[in-house]
Amino acid sequence: MARFTLPRDIYHGKGALEALKTLEGTHAIVVVGGGSMKRFGFLDKVCQYLQEAGMETRVFEGVEPDPSVETVMRGAEAMREFQPDWIVAIGGGSPIDAAKAMWAFYEYPHTTFEQLCIPFNFPKLRTKARFCAIPSTSGTATEVTAFSVITDYQKGVKYPLADFNITPDVAIVDPALAETMPKKLTAHTGMDAMTHAIEAYVSTLHCDYTDPLALHAIKMISADLVDSFNGDMAARDRMHNAQCLAGMAFSNALLGIVHSMAHKTGAAYTGGHIVHGCANAMYLPKVIQFNSKNAEADRRYGEIAASLGLEPTTGALIAHLKAMNEKLEIPSCIRDYEGGIIDEAEFLEKLPTVAELAVGDACTGSNPRAITPDEMAKLLKCCYYDLEVDF
Ligand code: FE
Repeated sequence: MARFTLPRDIYHGKGALEALKTLEGTHAIVVVGGGSMKRFGFLDKVCQYLQEAGMETRVFEGVEPDPSVETVMRGAEAMREFQPDWIVAIGGGSPIDAAKAMWAFYEYPHTTFEQLCIPFNFPKLRTKARFCAIPSTSGTATEVTAFSVITDYQKGVKYPLADFNITPDVAIVDPALAETMPKKLTAHTGMDAMTHAIEAYVSTLHCDYTDPLALHAIKMISADLVDSFNGDMAARDRMHNAQCLAGMAFSNALLGIVHSMAHKTGAAYTGGHIVHGCANAMYLPKVIQFNSKNAEADRRYGEIAASLGLEPTTGALIAHLKAMNEKLEIPSCIRDYEGGIIDEAEFLEKLPTVAELAVGDACTGSNPRAITPDEMAKLLKCCYYDLEVDF
């Protein structure tokens, strides 16, 4: 038996934000990040629409990028005090991810991150509140997924939470919010979405329900991401839908080792973080090369290439993705990332540990080809130096 879960309602298109007026409840808490949503006037609009729906509103602001355990606990406390029956999260992935965890601690104050971390082991939510997510970036698709990532900075651990209980009830995919994204963020989040769709399409858990979503998302991202990056707002609007379709696919089909590698290299080096979407974009062509030794994966990469009007081969898909990266000003390897901030000696020193951790990542299990820590170390080396993957 398999399960396919999506939000009950997805409002999309320009003006979708007004759907907030149709929510039924008495108290809504609005969870938001650093300030861009406030600056561009979207936060005010959200509160106004909720008030028009007859709700009392309260704002919880200041969720940081890579939200912390402390922020989650403060948010849950604010919710226990205000007793909302709607949680409305607006912004990039972080405020929405944080609000998902706050929701669990609001309804179950005595649960722990250790308990929530066990995949698909959440307590039953919606005993107090329902959840509405409004994304402002076009990539993570957390508005439709069963995932959230919270960081414990004291312990230096990331808690990946995964459970269909935290799939939102309502997603509002209004492209007006995504039009505020700066150029680089557009490129990185867009390639994150591309990676979601491609990994979902070849995942061991892909199925008839996820395949069409993944394939259509790949086609749309292929057609629109570069133009969106270059300021074409009609393309930007379509990208907001494309990333959401990719999210519906991967929330149900799960991901693969591109994400395992991006998760474990992201904060591993003293030179700086490797931004999630950029890491995915750099590793994706290498991982496709590695996975294509599996005949079924090779065949499915060929299907993707064919659907893009390319020669139906893995090689053609890889060439296409590399060309996209170049147009998006994304480097081809870690060595060239941000002018070389990831030190070679440190990378090599940490390689065995990072490789081991990446193999143990939750996303490795659904990758189409199994991988050993030794192979992972070799693959990561290929990603550092931009080498051919021939094993
Ligand atoms: Fe991702």
